[in-house]
Amino acid sequence: MNSDICDANKTIDFFKKEVEEFVKNRQWSKYHTPKELAQAISIESAELMELFLFRNYALEEILKNPELLSKISDEISDVFIYLLSFVNALNLDLTTAFQTKMEKNRKKYNLQEFSNGFYKKK
Ligand SMILES: [Mg+2]
Repeated sequence: MNSDICDANKTIDFFKKEVEEFVKNRQWSKYHTPKELAQAISIESAELMELFLFRNYALEEILKNPELLSKISDEISDVFIYLLSFVNALNLDLTTAFQTKMEKNRKKYNLQEFSNGFYKKK
């Protein structure tokens, strides 16, 4: 694995192009319809949840279990890959979408309305 590739030095554009090229080279664009991609994101998310079915791992347990951490990492990546393929199909700018939604979240979950993680009753 190339250690030069990490979160600190890659952009969203890098990931979008990687997924675009992967899909294009396999001629899978015809299968990557909005419905299929929305379902694929949900299915990969379910695969992530399956790793926790009937288990109650503490964070420390996961971090000390390389095999489990690898499985979780794979499923998170699957969700991310399909998400990027959906972003590509819709020609969305993910940074703009993120900033817009975060601004909505800041208004919806106003800091003044929460204390110690709980909603303060008015
Ligand atoms: Mg998967």
